[in-house]
Amino acid sequence: MTPVSYFPHKNNEMYVDDIAISDIAKQVKTPFYCYSSTAIETSYQEYKNAFSAQDALVCFAVKANSNQAVLATLAKLGSGADVVSMGEIRRAIAAGIPANKIVYSGVAKSQEEIHYALSLGILQFNVESEPELELISKVATSLNTTAAIAFRINPDVCAQTHAKISTGKAENKFGVPISKARIAYNQAAALPGIKIQGVDVHIGSQLTSLAPFAEAYQRIAELVTELRSDGHDISVVDVGGGLGITYLDEVIPSKQTYAEMVKAQLGHLNCKIILEPGRSLLGNAGILVSSVAFVKNGEERQFLMLDAGMNDLIRPSMYDAYHQIIAVNKGERELKTYDVVGPVCETGDTFAKARQVHESDAGDLIAIMSSGAYGAVMSSSYNTRLLAPEVMVKGSEFAVIRKRPSYEDIIKQDITPSWL
Ligand SMILES: *Cc1c(COP(=O)(O)O)cnc(C)c1O
Repeated sequence: MTPVSYFPHKNNEMYVDDIAISDIAKQVKTPFYCYSSTAIETSYQEYKNAFSAQDALVCFAVKANSNQAVLATLAKLGSGADVVSMGEIRRAIAAGIPANKIVYSGVAKSQEEIHYALSLGILQFNVESEPELELISKVATSLNTTAAIAFRINPDVCAQTHAKISTGKAENKFGVPISKARIAYNQAAALPGIKIQGVDVHIGSQLTSLAPFAEAYQRIAELVTELRSDGHDISVVDVGGGLGITYLDEVIPSKQTYAEMVKAQLGHLNCKIILEPGRSLLGNAGILVSSVAFVKNGEERQFLMLDAGMNDLIRPSMYDAYHQIIAVNKGERELKTYDVVGPVCETGDTFAKARQVHESDAGDLIAIMSSGAYGAVMSSSYNTRLLAPEVMVKGSEFAVIRKRPSYEDIIKQDITPSWL
């Protein structure tokens, strides 16, 4: 799936399914996120088909996009959820994902969160440290139940991705070092309220090559064999998420090739495979639609000033991420070079520098592509800007799946103390 697969231009006008983006913009006003339900469904089915020969469960990484409509779309197709907080558990359950398809990751789960997850009977806790394991044991015992666990293993491989989304090196905060794994499992076996079930690994995000995955999974396979010889019953390998998407011209291994690699590395173990894809399911299923506020002729460059900012989509500022920027209506216009910026009072509020975009004027619509994952979920109302609404399209219908709040909604969240 490329950034434009589900957002093609027909007669110079950008569409999603059967609807012109400009028709949605008339009703919803910019900026807004727009998702293609068809793209989400297709992407999920690609995973299902790729893994049809393996006992595999897709647990969508909810942190990539936690809108109820997105989760319900995936729930209907049979998806589970990978969650990292009580809030995400609640979102998954509310959208119809059953507890027995929920895996719970995250480095600092609280007692309250563990209690809640145990009371629901989730599929697996991915445990990141010994102290966390002890807390889970304590809470499970107090509830007279058992927690099914996997340790998240840090395999010490380099994911060859952006430093802020690389998680599998020894210096990262994530997981139990592979060198200490056998000790950790032996300790777990001795604790009450704990059922050892599997091994978990997640080495990073936006990986464009299979090599780091293969290296990590090979180490995990060796570990599973050792753990079994230590007497532990390992029936699940959670391979994490991390498969990348094409933002510009990255060539991403297909889900089929990824599945074959997983089988080659782990197939002989006869374990159930849990997958935790986030970006690769949602990334290219959504865009951020914005309008040009002004075109400013600077001394050295031309600025395209949008009504969307870093508070709506923070990836360019935070990760130096590249997103294609495309005029919704290309008309017969020429390409021009612009710095594409937002309205927030920070120099970092820049979507792109020296980028070719079809010549645009104030009021024209601009699409920031590949924004379906880690877009809306990371947005804020910084600068007291209203959170961008989200829209989902299916065929010739669209629905607002999160509406734009009002200024009153925002202001009334604050409480002025009685002494004022
Ligand atoms: C973020 C995360 C994922 C999803 O990563 P993607 O790169 O979006 O596929 C999966 N598992 C864990 C534990 C994560 O932290």
